Amino acid sequence: MLASMAEMVLTAKKAGYAVGQFNFSNLELAQAALEAAEELRAPLILGVTEGGLRHMGVEFAAAIGLTAARQAKVPVSLHLDHAGSFDLIMSCIKAGFNSVMFDGSRLPIEENIRMTKEICRVAHAMGVSVEAEVGAIGGVEDDLSVAAADALVADPEEAVNFWQQTKVDALAVAVGNAHGMYKTIPNIRTDIVQAVAGAIPVPVVLHGGSGTPDDIIRRAIAAGCAKINVSTENQVAFTSTLRRLLTEDPELADSRKCLGPARAVVKGSIKERITVFGAAGKAVVG
Ligand SMILES: [Zn+2]
Repeated sequence: MLASMAEMVLTAKKAGYAVGQFNFSNLELAQAALEAAEELRAPLILGVTEGGLRHMGVEFAAAIGLTAARQAKVPVSLHLDHAGSFDLIMSCIKAGFNSVMFDGSRLPIEENIRMTKEICRVAHAMGVSVEAEVGAIGGVEDDLSVAAADALVADPEEAVNFWQQTKVDALAVAVGNAHGMYKTIPNIRTDIVQAVAGAIPVPVVLHGGSGTPDDIIRRAIAAGCAKINVSTENQVAFTSTLRRLLTEDPELADSRKCLGPARAVVKGSIKERITVFGAAGKAVVG
């Protein structure tokens, strides 16, 4: 069933687990996440970035996500990831997304607050959940690129003040995390997660979950992260399986013969993440 992101992550924060947001940019990645969540009876957030929307189109992306939600026995939210404009957010809400992230982290803080408040006002009136970001998160995701040196660690006071002014449903905070795959073990500042999450009712969101070691994930959840975004590692699992199968059999012509196994590999990888997040068995199954 289509379910509220805000409610899912609030429940998760209170109970001490995290809901996984798994991004999709094609049918198989969405199916892999859905099958993984259903098998583990876990709540699920299906995310789409602006790049994903350019690839699939807003209507196709919404159709895939909403079909997944409708078919699912577990709660599923369809979430727009890292949107930079009011117009894109509105067109996704119109298409049926029930959760949006406005990323104003590269704007001056006052402007980020002003725009986030405006988006919350409109989205909340329509029953749509809102995530926002304070302090730019490093790495590369689609068009977003923040140099490692610029990957600021957010000021906890500023983050708490941001929440008090905007009342977003989930707050992404830069805590030493980055998008993409880590080349070294990330120094996730769980003290900052704790300082922010302990002072606001809603959870902190950990972006760039790909490749993050399990013990760091568990510490972040204990500190108040209840939404963790994972994308790159699933893309890597997907394309490396395709590459292997196409290399092994240069005659392979039926795309289903590589897309199917690639989907199965991603499903396995997502099941491992959901288990580490503590979300297995947490869905209210109808
Ligand atoms: Zn992100």
